[in-house]
Amino acid sequence: MANEFDGYSEYELEFFRAIDRNTMAEQAIHNALLDINDDQYYTLFEVEVEHTCGWARVQVFPERAGTLYRCLNCGMAGIIGG
Ligand SMILES: [Zn+2]
Repeated sequence: MANEFDGYSEYELEFFRAIDRNTMAEQAIHNALLDINDDQYYTLFEVEVEHTCGWARVQVFPERAGTLYRCLNCGMAGIIGG
């Protein structure tokens, strides 16, 4: 049963899984914004993506240097990229 997580405790594994879930959710938000128009930058709007809490509407505020976001389901907020 060898895998990349060999030697880690359940405590550590849960930490890494949480990082993975958040990274995947942020990637999904990033992907949802790949084809936005120039005039959508610096405006607040919503996209529907698979967040860590499941399918959810997420508020996004794309800036040139990154994207501010807030999940309307679980309330998590943060910045992607930068
Ligand atoms: Zn969420």
